[in-house]
Amino acid sequence: MERVEREIAGTKLVLVRGDITKQEVEAIVNAANPDLTPGGGVSGAIHRAGGPVVTEAAAKIRKERGRLPTGEAVLTPGGNLPAQYVIHTVGPVWHGGNRGEAELLAKAYRSCLSLAVQHGIKTVAFPSISTGAYGYPVPEAARVALRAVRDFLRENPGKLKEVRFVLFSPADFAEYRQALEELERV
Ligand code: ADP
Repeated sequence: MERVEREIAGTKLVLVRGDITKQEVEAIVNAANPDLTPGGGVSGAIHRAGGPVVTEAAAKIRKERGRLPTGEAVLTPGGNLPAQYVIHTVGPVWHGGNRGEAELLAKAYRSCLSLAVQHGIKTVAFPSISTGAYGYPVPEAARVALRAVRDFLRENPGKLKEVRFVLFSPADFAEYRQALEELERV
């Protein structure tokens, strides 16, 4: 079955294959661009499903704060999504691995989880940030993502009820499952 479930410091960690726009969680994470415009990929899908409430709230933040730096996160309402909120974060563009990509990717995951905790959000779903248009190789991204989430949960025990990774393709799901199993062995 395309679902894996673990427990980490009082939080459920779940890997599933699916579409993030359909998830019934309090907040879904968007792999946004720095201008917070809809664009393509998962961001286009989230803006489409969420509707103008999401796109207009994102545009307002862009106008007030300027471009969102890589690794940071902001919150908008979820509009027509089943999720109440969207957390928009900007992952790093892959340049070969020697330009701080791993640290920036980990920071993006941490920023989203911190923002969720600050807003009392208990259930969060992530897509595979940076592994589409931004070109981050999935096996490396999966390892960084899962480690960042695990470390955050250990440092913030019981603050979140569930963190879910929603992987769009069977291949991505398999990579994340393997990365989780490897992380548990070391
Ligand atoms: P980035 O620019 O951060 O690389 P992309 O949107 O191009 O972001 O891709 C990130 C990941 O999101 C890819 O693995 C892509 O397959 C996946 N994705 C695209 N649409 C969806 C969706 N509706 N739900 C979940 N994941 C999705």
